Formats: sequence, structure tokens, C-alpha cells
Amino acid sequence: MILTRFGYFWGEADAAAMRRIFDWRDGRELIRALARMQRIQGLAVSAIKIVKFDELKKQYELDMTLHNSAEAEEHAAAFGASDEPVCWIISGYSSGYASWALGEKIYFIEDKCLGAGDRICHATGKDAASWGEKLKPFMKFFRSDDIHGKILRLTEELKRKNRELQNQKKLVANAGIAFQTSPMVEIRSPAFAQTAELAARVAKYDATVLISGESGSGKEVIARYIHSASERAAKPFFPINCGALPDSLLEGELFGYRAGAFTGATKDRSGLLEEAGAGSVFLDEIGDISPALQVKLLRVLQEKEILRLGENAPRKIAARIIAATNKNLKEEIAAGKFREDLYFRLAVVEIEVPPLRERPEDILELARHFVRKCASKHKIRNLRLDASCARLLLQYKWPGNVRELENAIERASIFANDGLIMPENFPEAVVQPETDLFRGEPDSFAKLAEIEARHIGIILEKTGGNKSKAAKLLGISPATLWRKTRRTLKNQ
Ligand SMILES: [Zn+2]
Repeated sequence: MILTRFGYFWGEADAAAMRRIFDWRDGRELIRALARMQRIQGLAVSAIKIVKFDELKKQYELDMTLHNSAEAEEHAAAFGASDEPVCWIISGYSSGYASWALGEKIYFIEDKCLGAGDRICHATGKDAASWGEKLKPFMKFFRSDDIHGKILRLTEELKRKNRELQNQKKLVANAGIAFQTSPMVEIRSPAFAQTAELAARVAKYDATVLISGESGSGKEVIARYIHSASERAAKPFFPINCGALPDSLLEGELFGYRAGAFTGATKDRSGLLEEAGAGSVFLDEIGDISPALQVKLLRVLQEKEILRLGENAPRKIAARIIAATNKNLKEEIAAGKFREDLYFRLAVVEIEVPPLRERPEDILELARHFVRKCASKHKIRNLRLDASCARLLLQYKWPGNVRELENAIERASIFANDGLIMPENFPEAVVQPETDLFRGEPDSFAKLAEIEARHIGIILEKTGGNKSKAAKLLGISPATLWRKTRRTLKNQ
């Protein structure tokens, strides 16, 4: 059944996107989010129960109840009542999603269906071993000749499309900060304002730039800004993560290759450096490239030319190189892992992006920006942050920086009830950060009152603001709690 396969594919894609938002290992959370995704996608309002979750034996059982399945309603409207379940897309979607989320093939089979005269739809999802013989008659719906090949081809096409899109985009979208008119618009912290100012100045000169900063701190945002504020703005901006690709692939991506240069190279292809024309190429995680590739890149920077893999004649390139790293390249050089001559070629200008914890003034502004972004991305009407989230967002240290903040907001918006994001919708790590009370120097240890206020805050959030419940949990009287919270508020 083509519909099931289509749904499967769709579910896989959504789960893959969700994995970015959730901790990779947290399969349970991903499964819980499936119901949300079905609602957002307009498939159905559903409830999912985890009946069995054995990651060691790879055995799972998920129980799914669907209310007003859009698919069943459409089917009934078009074909009338059926004598068997009709929610093929939803079954496929759930199967594809769960399979991606759990890393094990999960098959959802519907046993009750609105389209077949039942009051609701109901389906069970299990791994093949748990289904046993019962799965056999259904397998044909799930099987696809070459789903993997299809994914590869689609990914390739998506990449191309993405590049084309970026080609046309002159503004720094997707960024976290509305940079367009003046880079300083929504930046409140002096630390980041300084970075943005330097980026604005450097954009006008055509020098190679090295951007350093922790993972997720927004190095690509700065790179995009430099590009968009430069004379190359109308030309392409091609980002590539050097740490994500094995050497051989990275080389092909950057320099291109000739047909037959290696197995799988069926036709000539230009690399990013060539394709970018007079645009900019952003080399992220430059500290991760191999010594061999470092030599080749050095040559590119010196000669302004590249060699496609399998070719002998160099080709001139005109692209501007902007590189970034989360490593301390000077340390890497001292350890013999990074070439000093390449470093000097890259770091004609060096820009440092401060970590989010060093610019707390920007946290809430960025949070609001991401809420607006999620609202349009996931089509959640009236999405907003409850005021009680502010303290939570400000007290957390954000080791994953802006990217972690964006992911946390996206996750929270998916779990939010009726668009209202509450503290409990945030990941556990944010809600209850590991107590790092005794890190650093003794004079930086938290004051007793701070610890008390923080603890009270957490308990209040956990009890949904119920003061008498919170007082009971804290082992104090409601009057004492009232006095203590009033003091905390005053001190803020
Ligand atoms: Zn159904």
C-alpha cells in the first residue's frame, strides 16, 4: 500500500528532525512527542501509552488511541464506511517515526478504526519479533524496494535545494538575532555587541576571517552576517561542517571531483569552493580537518585555486573563506595537530563569540525570538512563554549556548498546552540543573539565601505554583513560605 509507505517516510523525516531537539538517547521522550507531532501535522488527536520499553532486548510495545483521525474522516467522506481499518498513512507515519526514534523497526497495525464504524481508532506498535507471525500479512504494506536509496537521493536533492535557497537569501534568517538593518538591534549585552560590531567592520574588507567560540554559540550567525553585510551579499553563502564528514567525502564536497575519481563518482561534479563563485564558503569546525586536508586547504588559500579530485589542472576560485572553530587552535598547534601556517592564513581577522552564559542580558530576547520562530514553524497559534519561565531560563548556564536555548524552546513549544509554555515543558536539565554549588573558587559559592530561593522556586514550579502543596514538600508552614517568597521577589 503506497499510502503506508508514504506515511512511513514522512514519519521518519519528522523523527529525524525531532532528534535534533531531543537528547538522542531519550527514546521515551521522542515517542511521547509522536502524539504531539500527529496533532501538529493535522493527522489526529492521539494518545500514546508505552506498554513495553526494553532497550536491551530491543522489544517495544506502544498503544495508540486516535480521536477524530483526519484520514478516517476523509476516507469515509470519499468512499463511505469500510469493513477494515483505513488509517494507512497514520499507521505508516507512526511506524516510520517510532522506527527512527528507537533505532529498531516498529510496525503499527490498526485494529479499530473510525472509518470501519468503530468509535475511535486504535493501533498497536511493536517490533517484528514481538509481533511474530501476526505481522506477516501486513509486511507487504511496509516493505519498499529501496527506501534507503530514496532517502539518499532525496537528501542529495534537498541539499541542492538548500544551496539554491541560500543563494537567494540575502538576509540573515534562522539566526537568533535580527541583524538585517543594524547588527545591534536586539542585542542587549555589551559582550555580544562588541562581537557584532567587529563583524560589521570586518564585513567590508575582503579578508579571511576565523570565528571562534563554543559549540552552539552562534558562529554561523556571525559568518552569515559578515557575508550579508559584504559586497558578496548577492552571491551564494555555502556553509559546510568539516567535522561532520569523513575526509574523503569532505574533500569531494569542497573541491569537487572528476567522473571515475572514486567508486560512486559517476559524473563530474564541482565542489563548494568552485560553485560559490564570488560568494562565501563557511568552513565550520575547521579544527577537525586532517593534516592532509590542511595542506590542501593551505594551498587553496595561497594560490586561490583548487584541484578537483582526479584532475591535474588547477581551477581558479574567487570565494571568500570564513572559518570557525570551537577548539583553541593555538593549543592544537602546540600539540602538533594544526598547522601554524594555515592558522595564520585563516585568522587574518579573528572574532570571538562569547558563550551565552556571559551575556545573560540576551537570553530572554533570544527566547522570545525562538518562540515566534517555533510558532510559525509548527503552526502553533498563540504560542507564548509563561512569565514563570523567565527565572528558569536566566538561572540555567546553557552549556550548549544559543543552539541549546533554541532546541529547549522548540521542545517546550511542542509539549506546551494550548500554546502556553510552562517551566515543566522544558528539558529536565534546564528545569533542574545539576547542582554545581561547589565549582570554582570558594568566594563564588552560592549564598545560603540563593540556594534557598532556588530550591523554593523549583518546588513551586514542580507543584504548578500550589503554595500549600509546596510548603508541605518543603516542610515549612504556608506562612513561612509566603514570607520567604516575598523576600526572594524583593531581592530580584
Ligand atoms: Zn482509523
